[in-house]
Amino acid sequence: DEILLNLKEEHEITDVSFKTWLLPLKVYAVDGEKAIVTVPDVEFLGYIRKKYGFLLKITIEEVTGFECSVDFVVENQIQKETAPAPAGNTLITNSVNPVSQSAIITANLNPKYIFDTFVVGANNNLAHAASLAVAESPGEIYNPLFIYGGVGLGKTHLMHSIGHFILKNNPHAKVLYVTSEKFTNELIDAIRNKNNFSPTEFREKYRNNDVLLIDDIQFIIGKESTQEEFFHTFNALYEAKKQIIISSDKPPKEIETLEERLRSRFEWGLTVDIQSPDYETRMAILRKKEEMEGYNIDNEVIKYIATNIKSNIRELEGALTKIVALSRLDNKEITVELAEEALKDIISPNDKREITPELVIQVVADHYGLTPLDICSQKRNKEIVYPRQIVMYLCREMVGTPLQMIGKFLGGRDHTTIIHGIDKITADVDKNDTLSNTIEILKKKINPQ
Ligand code: ADP
Ligand code: MG
Repeated sequence: DEILLNLKEEHEITDVSFKTWLLPLKVYAVDGEKAIVTVPDVEFLGYIRKKYGFLLKITIEEVTGFECSVDFVVENQIQKETAPAPAGNTLITNSVNPVSQSAIITANLNPKYIFDTFVVGANNNLAHAASLAVAESPGEIYNPLFIYGGVGLGKTHLMHSIGHFILKNNPHAKVLYVTSEKFTNELIDAIRNKNNFSPTEFREKYRNNDVLLIDDIQFIIGKESTQEEFFHTFNALYEAKKQIIISSDKPPKEIETLEERLRSRFEWGLTVDIQSPDYETRMAILRKKEEMEGYNIDNEVIKYIATNIKSNIRELEGALTKIVALSRLDNKEITVELAEEALKDIISPNDKREITPELVIQVVADHYGLTPLDICSQKRNKEIVYPRQIVMYLCREMVGTPLQMIGKFLGGRDHTTIIHGIDKITADVDKNDTLSNTIEILKKKINPQ
């Protein structure tokens, strides 16, 4: 314990690095001048050895006065005869290195998505460890890092966490997070020289980074010009040893329309996946959310949610929010009955995702960082009116919902408002390439096949 504590403080190791790499280490044997230390996962043996081996060695010397070398072995590859006492959590202290607000905004990072609020479980521990390793040593080990997994499982959260961590360690690092949609739209603008944004400026913006995070790369695939430009961006960054982090819904080898040269580059680094969370992880995530929001919810209710909502963490969070909202609205206590009532639309017996107006509203709201309530509200600011009109357009196009029904779904608007909205978007799609790109992406989000 003393050695670890010393190492943490002397070398200003952050809490998350400490918890992930150092706390799980155990002394297996000390033999003359050699300490043998166990590591839980084989995947990161090499990384821990390289990153922390030397630090551990010199700290052991400092604390004990004995010179000794350190060797690491994987825990489940040795006979478990001598089980030393676990180190416990008491060693964690806070090391805060404030990052300027403007650096976070320039990097395009969401302040909520940090490693501290990310719950690690069996479904995501490799992706978490890989993200942390990249955050600690950007450009040095796993380049690119490719994270894949289904919707709402934490890819975006991990990417932002990497960005925050790097800025905390090095406030001058140039970090840029973008969705692949934004990348494409800016490329379209640059080619057209729109908003005085030239191809040269585009290149400067994307190549002049220490760390580039591109989220949901599946949406640029199939577009040759974007793949071409991304290929050059990738090469420029890679050759300069800058870190690239990519997320996608599928691993590179399953993305059919991905050009071979990009596919092979994506596989140069490390590819990790995130799976659906198991029951324990779902419980832990709900608990974390409860703690963060300051709710106080009965254990039975938490269990009810964790049992019934399985595939998607965004839905898990949404369920909790919905229950709390209903209880405040009706001024009722939060009970399992209330939870059943609140979630009856979400929990369907045959977990099939139909394309409904609700789904369209949900996806469009998410895409613009709004809530479904915003979309259906009477608010008239531009930031909401336009996405609302996109909902009208997509309901008509994808679901074939009658105008009157669309109006009803959107908080009781009459059909002339709906017609106006649909006409507006139809006209804009024709003359605005970036909007038509966005619409295409929204359609893929609503109906992934
Ligand atoms: P994805 O990008 O894979 O679609 P997100 O990163 O947007 O998913 O995650 C969806 C929501 O679930 C976010 O609000 C995120 O904070 C939350 N979330 C996902 N994974 C975790 C986790 N392991 N711990 C805590 N919250 C999580
Ligand atoms: Mg995402």
